[in-house]
Amino acid sequence: MALKTGNDYLRSMKSLDLKAHMLGQSTSDLDRHGLVTPSRRAVAYTFDAAHDPETRDLFCVESSLCKDVINRFSHLHQGTEDLVNKVRMQRLCGTGTACCFQRCVGMDAANAIYSTTFECDRKHKTPYHSRFKDYWAWVQQQDLVVDGAMTDPKGDRGKRPKEQMDPDLFLRVSDRRSEGIVINGAKLHQTGMLNSHEILVMPTLTMRPGEEAWAVCCAVPTDAEGVRYIYGRQASDTRKLEKNTMDVGNPRFGGQEVMTVFEDVFVPHERVFLNGEVDFSGIMVERFAAYHRQSYGGCKVGVGDSLIGATALIARMNGVEKATHIKEKIVEMIHLNETLYACGIACSATGEATPSGNYLVNMLLANVCKLNVTRFPYEISRLATDVAGGLLGTMPSAADLEDPVTGPYIRKYLATTPEVDVVDRMKVLRLIENMVAGAGAVGYLIESMHGAGPPAAQRIMIGRQADLEGKITKVKRMLDIP
Ligand code: SF4
Ligand code: FE
Repeated sequence: MALKTGNDYLRSMKSLDLKAHMLGQSTSDLDRHGLVTPSRRAVAYTFDAAHDPETRDLFCVESSLCKDVINRFSHLHQGTEDLVNKVRMQRLCGTGTACCFQRCVGMDAANAIYSTTFECDRKHKTPYHSRFKDYWAWVQQQDLVVDGAMTDPKGDRGKRPKEQMDPDLFLRVSDRRSEGIVINGAKLHQTGMLNSHEILVMPTLTMRPGEEAWAVCCAVPTDAEGVRYIYGRQASDTRKLEKNTMDVGNPRFGGQEVMTVFEDVFVPHERVFLNGEVDFSGIMVERFAAYHRQSYGGCKVGVGDSLIGATALIARMNGVEKATHIKEKIVEMIHLNETLYACGIACSATGEATPSGNYLVNMLLANVCKLNVTRFPYEISRLATDVAGGLLGTMPSAADLEDPVTGPYIRKYLATTPEVDVVDRMKVLRLIENMVAGAGAVGYLIESMHGAGPPAAQRIMIGRQADLEGKITKVKRMLDIP
């Protein structure tokens, strides 16, 4: 199967019968819906980049499973160079779309499941690894978009899954049949799920003996019977439905998140990759989280590039580009952004092979990367807000710009220099607003905090991975302390 183009991808989504609900209505015309199309275009970008002569060498790679040339977004990393190239590719997509392009979650899930199933089979004589290889070779050959679904609703955070008032608050196996399993539950915050062909369900935390029903990993088509989607709201999202799209800020691209409900969803055995082996649930969670924490060292840096570019441009349009304090602020933004990239590259370059053969990132550095991501985009956004000025929050609408009475006043009083077109200036301000306070801030700020786990989760992993005892021993040796 040839690599899909963006248009092939968009066409392939049309044939899916997705049960989606949006703003109080069930919706079947997803491919024409104003809220959805920008997010689909962002995913389409990842397909077109595999055909663009300038980027295809980075996006195309030989599969380790089927030897075909595939899109890197479905690649199983075969070395540290692949891990580094993944981050480079994500930065490029982030810069090109200024939003979440949604396709990394499946890549990260696949790499985690690949190595975990190998080790699980070795210990428990289960058949998961070869099943997963067959499934993933098909995904690669069909050039599909896969969503990795990890985050359960979790109910009362102080209780284990079986102690919850409703056992479905953690997705679980509710029935076991001769041909497969039945799952019930929900996954929250699902980035791009409604723009995907397939879902890889994974456990949300390390399960313990007695919690076998919740230790489940399996693949489900997005239009499977019993799967339902409830669209997540983003700040200013309905601006996307307005006739003049200037106020959206990022009129072409956007991210997307949904709540996904699984109600008595049947999964045949050949699509089940973990089913009760609690001792491998935590390994799967940690590896997926590490890959996705690495991912943020690419995608958020790319979005940061767009924000820095827009900030430098608005400074120029405002006539302050040469002011020392403005130059210092922009250099600070660059420094913070490149520090994130350095972390993304570092955890990739020092990754190691797993027993299954694919490569895993350096877990300590991936967690350091993501912990920085929980902070730096906020500081970069603060500096962008500072440089852009108060108009960022008070500018009149595109509709008033078009109005014959108010339009001339807006053009007169928002003018800066003869070289700067007022409408262009307004467009740049709206893009910055989108990223720091509008729909784009879901991906650039809230997701930077909570996506791939909140900062507390990274601190726990950093504490575990840092070999503190090793450091203490070395100090004692240096000081002759027994
Ligand atoms: Fe990819 Fe970043 Fe979106 Fe995650 S948040 S899917 S890493 S673009
Ligand atoms: Fe994410």
